[in-house]
Amino acid sequence: MDFAWNDTQRRRYERALSAARAAFPPEEPPGFSRERWRRLAKFGLMGASVPRPYGEGLGALDTARLFEAAGKGCGDTGLVFAAAAHLFACAMPIAGFGAPALRERLLGGLATGELIAGNAMTEAEAGSDVGDLRTTARPVDGGYVLDGVKSFVSNGPVADVYVTYAVTDPDAGHWGITAFAVDARTPGVTAGPAFDKAGLTGCRASTVTFDGCFVPAGAVLGEPGQGSAIFQHSMGWERACLFALYLGVQDRLVERCVAHARERRQFGRPIGRFQSVSNRIADMKLRLEASRLLLYRACWAMDAGEPAVLPAALSKLATSEAVLASAADAVRVFGGRGYLAGDGLAEAVDDALGGVIFSGTSDIQRRLVAMELGL
Ligand SMILES: Cc1cc2nc3c(=O)[nH]c(=O)nc-3n(C[C@H](O)[C@H](O)[C@H](O)COP(=O)(O)OP(=O)(O)OC[C@H]3O[C@@H](n4cnc5c(N)ncnc54)[C@H](O)[C@@H]3O)c2cc1C
Repeated sequence: MDFAWNDTQRRRYERALSAARAAFPPEEPPGFSRERWRRLAKFGLMGASVPRPYGEGLGALDTARLFEAAGKGCGDTGLVFAAAAHLFACAMPIAGFGAPALRERLLGGLATGELIAGNAMTEAEAGSDVGDLRTTARPVDGGYVLDGVKSFVSNGPVADVYVTYAVTDPDAGHWGITAFAVDARTPGVTAGPAFDKAGLTGCRASTVTFDGCFVPAGAVLGEPGQGSAIFQHSMGWERACLFALYLGVQDRLVERCVAHARERRQFGRPIGRFQSVSNRIADMKLRLEASRLLLYRACWAMDAGEPAVLPAALSKLATSEAVLASAADAVRVFGGRGYLAGDGLAEAVDDALGGVIFSGTSDIQRRLVAMELGL
């Protein structure tokens, strides 16, 4: 077992970290704009795992490490999350399952960030239970007509393309769902206004409605009926790689807390000399390193072609819960000033809270782990 990065990996990480720090100075408030999206795209994040010739063709571990650098260097966690959702839940299923003409039309633009994609799966009645979709795709001459409302689409209001899922055969259950890549300008597609979210504000999200929307047969990903498997494939990428951005956030929080605990004095000494404070920071470091090992292990399994459902579920659960606990601890370490808006600490709690919900809640990850254990 080798825990060392090679020179190329080390250089790639350092380059991405310094580029992220330089491009997104901490005084700049978070938020989405096409200009900020393009700035982020310049570090090669959006095409990292997209196969060549469209993207960089990196494996899961190398891709995760890039997102870790971006999560550490860019304080706008929502914007990095938006890029990750675009890559893992949209570009990767198109790369893996799109017909050659569809790949040719979309993948170059998705990999450079010229195009933005949103994953439209969740519905009002189908959240954790993604098998209970109401959106339908009726076969017609040359394609399908989509009808339904998707209730929580990251990048929804700004996307050029949606990867979405609809029922094509109501009697086939799991095998009756089909995946589509739908151009956002298609007649019958409407994105709702951006949600007012508690965190991850650099990522706009909305509903997306399909109303008698015709999509050509060439927009189907994989075969009709393969949608559930394609969605699980994209969730594999999300659970393993997306959460690397939260390793970067944890790393940044630990560094900030150490610096603050050395500098801030109370009762005549630095607060880091009080064991309650130093233990809290030690626990933050423990969570970071434990979740980091699980995440790298899950990415390694994906790259090695090993079964990755269990390691990805463990990694997603550990990393999302770790960053939430550590963001709350960071506020405690900073005291009252940690609770002020605009300094990135109170915001880190809200940004972390989303992580225990999307890509399958913590309860769903525990359920996956239990099922993998044969329970
Ligand atoms: C920031 C953010 C970004 C998102 N981005 C996207 C996106 O881009 N595309 C998209 O399609 N969706 C997206 N979602 C939606 C997300 O996938 C769902 O919110 C999530 O799957 C949970 O579904 P739900 O909200 O309907 O909650 P519910 O499924 O109603 O769950 C409510 C509670 O019940 C628990 N629960 C449900 N079923 C079980 C069970 N079987 N066992 C144990 N506990 C259970 C859950 O853990 C949870 O605590 C996003 C959500 C957030 C917060």
